[in-house]
Amino acid sequence: VLITVEGDTISAVAPETQCPQDADRLVGLTLPGFANTHSHVFHRALRGRTHTGKGSFWTWREEMYRMAAGLDPDSYHALAATTYAEMRAAGYTVVGEFHYLHHSPGGRPYADGNAMSEALVAAAADADVRITLLDTLYLHGGIGTGGRYEELEPVQRRFSDGSAEAWAARVDAFRPTAARVGAAIHSVRAVDPRAMEVVRSWGDAHDAPLHIHLSEQPAENERCVAAHGTTPTGLLADIGGLGERTTVVHATHLTAGDITSLGTSHTTVCLCPTTERDLADGIGPSRRLVAAGARLAVGSDSQAVIDPFEEMRAVEHHQRLATLRRGNHSTTALLEAGTVDGYRALGWHAGGRIEPGRLADLITVEVEPGADPPHMLASAVFGRTRVVSVLVGGR
Ligand SMILES: [Zn+2]
Repeated sequence: VLITVEGDTISAVAPETQCPQDADRLVGLTLPGFANTHSHVFHRALRGRTHTGKGSFWTWREEMYRMAAGLDPDSYHALAATTYAEMRAAGYTVVGEFHYLHHSPGGRPYADGNAMSEALVAAAADADVRITLLDTLYLHGGIGTGGRYEELEPVQRRFSDGSAEAWAARVDAFRPTAARVGAAIHSVRAVDPRAMEVVRSWGDAHDAPLHIHLSEQPAENERCVAAHGTTPTGLLADIGGLGERTTVVHATHLTAGDITSLGTSHTTVCLCPTTERDLADGIGPSRRLVAAGARLAVGSDSQAVIDPFEEMRAVEHHQRLATLRRGNHSTTALLEAGTVDGYRALGWHAGGRIEPGRLADLITVEVEPGADPPHMLASAVFGRTRVVSVLVGGR
């Protein structure tokens, strides 16, 4: 086909017979670019340092905090620019950066309260990927026994704005031209229900995406139920936080009631399977979530692996291992999770399809020699995939 681009948008898609001699040729299988719906870019610096040895999510978190403590706006910018370039080369054309490294070590704001957010947006511009900055509220160190919210640990102080109102004021002052801004609640461990409600209503007022880490670990669920008498999903439902603008990240340890709530509200569930297996989180019920009405997206999260094809195929492969059944998610469904549903979850409603009026974000992958058209897509998702060209906004 001939894809015509005007500005950064596809204006026409026509059969190959109309192709002019001087058109650029994308040789291979061209797909919409992928959405990395959940990223913590600075975790890239942990690659190779935390993947072996014993422990759990919680011991890994200690290593991650040590890394977080050393970053300032300049080093954050440099690390993010190279990591976003790596994402682009892997086929991600938009990234949702779940950002909570707001202030200086110890917690004092920088002179520009959004210096760290600016660093990320500048890094995405350097790498020429789209970004949705998911500005994250983080207030507490955890839910203690007895249901009281714990003080922040010293290393966590730079994550906190002190109050939900101060978070909202800082986010309101951040008006990037090229990026989108979404609202995020770090987790029910780090944000109490009243503050969750402030973030939810900020998202409503700005028609912005709302993201939250949800039920990644059984301990989070246990503390939440003990403190509030309901699961993290129940708590999110209570504050009016479920729905089509909401993305819950991980959703690994859910009750049957949680699955129904997420499904009937058409909430998006962002799975990060390469991270979830690295951190020994478990395998979320993706097949049951989709059957209940939820949508899926994928993210590279801890950056142990940056490869949208590996995330998509892992969604299906993990279900096979967990359920002893094949064919839980069709190839098309996996591609939609990786593209159009991820774009939508990040507020880029014009992305994720190759049709007129959509963003000209396109990737081309090598086609296996001899692959016939009906098998090309499955071969790309389930085989060895090499990305040979990436266009963002036609560039
Ligand atoms: Zn995360």
